[in-house]
Amino acid sequence: MSFFQLRTLPGYAWPPLAAGPIAQVWVAYLELDRLQWLEPDRLETQQLEQARTLLSHSIAHVPYYREALSQAGIVPGAIRTMNDFRRIPILRRRTYQEHNARFEAKTLPAATVASNTRKTAGSSGTPTTVFQTNLVHMWWHAFFLRDLEWAGIDPSGSLAAIRSTGKKDATLLKLLNGVSASTWLQALHPLIEMGPSHVMDIQQDHRVQLRWLQGVAPDYLLSYPSNLEVLAELARGLRPLTGPARPLPSLKAVHAISDTLTEDAQKNIEDAFGVPVKNTYSCAEAGYLASPCPAGHGLHVHAENVILEVLDDAGQPCQPGQTGQVFITHLHNFRGPIIRYELGDEATLGMKGCPCGRGLPLLARVQGKNSPMFQLPDGRLKSSTPVARLVRKAGGHWQHQVIQKARDHVVVRVAIDPSWTDEHTETIKTRLRDFFEAPIRVDVEIHDRIPMPESGKFQSIINELTAPAGKGA
Ligand SMILES: [Zn+2]
Repeated sequence: MSFFQLRTLPGYAWPPLAAGPIAQVWVAYLELDRLQWLEPDRLETQQLEQARTLLSHSIAHVPYYREALSQAGIVPGAIRTMNDFRRIPILRRRTYQEHNARFEAKTLPAATVASNTRKTAGSSGTPTTVFQTNLVHMWWHAFFLRDLEWAGIDPSGSLAAIRSTGKKDATLLKLLNGVSASTWLQALHPLIEMGPSHVMDIQQDHRVQLRWLQGVAPDYLLSYPSNLEVLAELARGLRPLTGPARPLPSLKAVHAISDTLTEDAQKNIEDAFGVPVKNTYSCAEAGYLASPCPAGHGLHVHAENVILEVLDDAGQPCQPGQTGQVFITHLHNFRGPIIRYELGDEATLGMKGCPCGRGLPLLARVQGKNSPMFQLPDGRLKSSTPVARLVRKAGGHWQHQVIQKARDHVVVRVAIDPSWTDEHTETIKTRLRDFFEAPIRVDVEIHDRIPMPESGKFQSIINELTAPAGKGA
């Protein structure tokens, strides 16, 4: 039996039959279901076949690639192995941003229709356009279904999503109070049975978010890791001293999307809510990249959607267990192709072959964007990764943000809970001075709350100094 409850034709009962244009999504999903079991070599051969098609199209119709790939002497028909593929020049993020318009194809294959474009804010703040098509959307929906199935997230239940909505004015006001709909995703409504969904904009106060969640009592909660972590801290404070009652008793799983979920954050959120956290690795540029292996062996790359490379500093492919930079080739976007595109994330390659039997490549972990480096008073650079934990463990607060203002000056903003005392201030100061290995100035600022930005991309660690490139101490 299928994981999803497929709808059928009006007036009929059984067997269910997908109907109308959306039926193509079901066909694609069933095909993905079959392809995931192919041998890794076979998958790679088929990826390269699609890559050759994409490259030929790009050279013929996309101004940027016509020039760049011709200059590099790339002949699509000659690309037979991943070694051949790696002769294609890397596409830097900055290049894509600066020459954005030159990435749009002048002509599309027969069955492909241009659809809406999507703006991404990007870490640098330069907005970039992602050019999309009917087929990009079609595959997005098919991977949406695969991702839910792997995570065991049954859409006939109810969903509460707290995310960036991009809305303004009156619509935003409504979304800040939470809006309910009869289905998870309007586009898939004709295809499968779905329960109700509830959406709230991420800029709402976390205390209001949590109260709203308690009222809505969802089966599933979807949000960004940085938001979920704050909710987890608040939920922990709610727990009655008498027992380990769960703050949201109906909750079956948490779905973390968009930002990176660190191991520490995952554990915190799971402890606070008493349910598993499923993290989907995706990006605005290409949609679904990887999702947790249903048998728990890391994340499987959606190889039918992207060629995902993890490369070391020399541009060579990483070995299992090794961490490197992520580069993606989106196999289905013929309108705005991205080929060997630098995503700016770090990931650790997983083992070869998965015990679950799927042939899709494995990532052991996605670390995401590098956490910023802090500068010590003596000039050394030190990874800020441990800082969030040091501050959180000090206790007495449910939200924090650490900002380096100068080599010897750090500001810590905290939204405190009733247990906060002056001792917490001293603990934070001591811990940060230990981290900076010097008696630096630490200002602890007490706030009612620290609002999430409109994009939902909250940074808990900020270095306001222009940190020189390179790895530090
Ligand atoms: Zn697996």
